[in-house]
Amino acid sequence: MPAARLSRPNEAGARAPLRLMPTTPQLASLPKAELHLHLEGSVRPTTAAELAARYGEPIAPEEVAARYRYTDFSGFIEAFKWITSLLRTPGDYALVTRRLAEELVRQNVVYAEITISAGVMLRRAQDVEANFAAIRDAAAEQPFRSLRTAWIFDSARQFGSEAALDVARRAAALAGSGVVAFGMGGDELAHPAEHFRPAFEFARSRGLHLVCHAGEIGGPGSVRDAAEILGAERIGHGIAVMHDARLAESLAARRIVLENCPTSNLCTGALARQTGKPDASLADHPLARLAERGSLVTLSTDDPGMFHTDLLTEYSRAASLGLSNAQVVKLVAQSFHAAFLPPEDRLALAGNLERAAKSSGLL
Ligand SMILES: [Zn+2]
Repeated sequence: MPAARLSRPNEAGARAPLRLMPTTPQLASLPKAELHLHLEGSVRPTTAAELAARYGEPIAPEEVAARYRYTDFSGFIEAFKWITSLLRTPGDYALVTRRLAEELVRQNVVYAEITISAGVMLRRAQDVEANFAAIRDAAAEQPFRSLRTAWIFDSARQFGSEAALDVARRAAALAGSGVVAFGMGGDELAHPAEHFRPAFEFARSRGLHLVCHAGEIGGPGSVRDAAEILGAERIGHGIAVMHDARLAESLAARRIVLENCPTSNLCTGALARQTGKPDASLADHPLARLAERGSLVTLSTDDPGMFHTDLLTEYSRAASLGLSNAQVVKLVAQSFHAAFLPPEDRLALAGNLERAAKSSGLL
């Protein structure tokens, strides 16, 4: 068993017993899945600068850093818009896919459902099918053979219901090519869920799975609408259910999963907003409490390039919230159980995880 580091999970409680935290090598040794991961949000500042230079818009490192610094959700959306403005050709998408796949392989992520902002591509009058072919081919290259990928086409809520339906149609047309789900992100407060019922119903009728960002900056009602009106099987973030125990129970009873992304919630100000604490820190994140009370929670990075994080860091941070090693392993397993994969594949991946956890000393 690799050397484990000692840590106090609760620095405020001086009498809290010292506890073994998983080490980075232990976390790295576990096969993992990423279920909430935006391709465009994976773009690191160096890659953004490279793309800007490619288009004759060279930008100083300090200016890139400034663009990657935000304290609220609208600032984050502005940065996301800037990054997507640099993704103009299938070749650009292939480049950022390779960079992301390298990072995932490095962290022993063996399965990723990667969200593509097809709604943004359509808004920019791009060829979604050509972009997707380049993305899929890049992810299938030889160096990434240990990584299995599936794709989620995402609509942006603020672009409205017709645009969402267009994304759902594109997703359905590519369902045989690796697109497994249709989802919606963007500005959660922009339009009521009811407007998007046709898009979600169409996607479901074509056999796609359904996901929806909700309860990130919106309240519990937004999560309830995503589940009940839109039929979302997984909720992006969903941290607002911390305010509504009955809703949390009812989601768990229906096996609806909450895709938690703690660092993202800190960086966008979502956690400060949900907790009413302007100086909210990771310790205020509800992940551990939700998991403890029976919610089905997964852990993801959301936009690792934009939030200066990666999945290993997220697991390390989750452990610091007070999770035991067994609970950390359970959290990893939950991403396999919640994957849009055939049941036998989910079980096989979870079995591999259990074996790796035992040999690393985490179980
Ligand atoms: Zn997201």
